[in-house]
Amino acid sequence: MAAKISVLGSTGSIGTQTLDVARMHGLKVTALTANHNIELLEKQAREFHPIMVSVSDLGAAAQLKIALSDTDIDVFCGEEGIIRAAVEETSDTVVNAIVGVAGLLPTVAAVRAGKNIALANKETLVAGGSIVMREVKEKGIKLYPVDSEHSAIFQCLQGCPPDSLDKIILTASGGTFFGKTRKDLENVSVNQALKHPNWSMGAKITIDSSTMMNKGLEVIEASWLFGCSDDQIEVLIHRESIIHSMIRLKDNAVIAQLGVPDMRIPIQYALTYPNRLPSPAAALDFSEITSMSFYKPDTETFSCLSICRDALRRGGLYPTVANAANEVAVELFLNEKIRFLDIADIVGNAVASFDTDIKDPCLEDILETDKETRLKIRQNF
Ligand code: NAD
Ligand code: MG
Repeated sequence: MAAKISVLGSTGSIGTQTLDVARMHGLKVTALTANHNIELLEKQAREFHPIMVSVSDLGAAAQLKIALSDTDIDVFCGEEGIIRAAVEETSDTVVNAIVGVAGLLPTVAAVRAGKNIALANKETLVAGGSIVMREVKEKGIKLYPVDSEHSAIFQCLQGCPPDSLDKIILTASGGTFFGKTRKDLENVSVNQALKHPNWSMGAKITIDSSTMMNKGLEVIEASWLFGCSDDQIEVLIHRESIIHSMIRLKDNAVIAQLGVPDMRIPIQYALTYPNRLPSPAAALDFSEITSMSFYKPDTETFSCLSICRDALRRGGLYPTVANAANEVAVELFLNEKIRFLDIADIVGNAVASFDTDIKDPCLEDILETDKETRLKIRQNF
């Protein structure tokens, strides 16, 4: 069980819920990082007394230094500050709740420093899965999934012999535009896309859920975490988000993990594994569930899912390209520079036009490809 944690991205949706869990179980918090939300970071620092905090830039760091001048908390900034938090000497576990591929280097640094990882930042595995999983194995550290589906699969697998898994059944809410056609989606607004039916999350992942890119990223994430190929991972729409995912074993027995849609359950499991402690999340009340519905995903309307599967099958740097293209496209959509359906087109074109012989990329290849993909797309807007 984790005792001392560094929380990267502590002011976000996963970050704040991680601190709920830490508060409830008296976990020591040794480092906190955030991009710009200095006010909340200061509040968190005063409550949890970490050794250090870090923010995105010098200006924000200067402000925070003044705000925390009556404490002995060290203030850092930029990428260097995040890396410091990731390798903070006194922490045993790093919770990576940063959004986007910005989480990759901190994950790698934490692994190299021998920290266990509670990983919410799925982009780490999508872009850099080969490197991260290899180094996790070499270092003998633990990487616990925080993403609810992957935590569910991890929970279902407890006690199953390693060769007993036949299929992963990754559930998906279907997002806010479930049942819509491409025609319906031509003119949807940012605000419409930001309304998730079941989960309250950061903006990027909420848009990813509405395009189903999130599920595509999660298929790739699952392939790294559980050593599965694309055809062993089935995606199933389950509108109510009560079953967080399932596994089918070789004898056709199916095991599912259920609970209210509250990320504090998977976050806590990643921090307290293998223990089961009381949770700040509510208990599931079956008398309130009138039905559970299941559908096949509509991959024609939500093509991001097929694009990610294609990238996974091609392997190497293709998932890195899909992820980078999506990060830029989502940002462009949030800034109202492109339309909703353009997101999938941008991601699809980036993967289709990418060509490389590199099968087993190193970290530099991944970072370079991520950068080049972004530059190429930005040139057009
Ligand atoms: P969020 O936007 O709410 O929070 C992101 C946090 O990271 C904030 O503290 C922000 O300050 C920081 N941050 C943002 N950009 C950064 C950068 N470039 N460098 C350093 N720090 C940066 O996001 P979230 O919804 O909490 O998601 C975080 C990660 O967890 C994502 O990878 C997401 O896919 C994954 N995830 C989230 C949920 C959820 O319920 N929110 C569920 C499953 C997985
Ligand atoms: Mg998820």
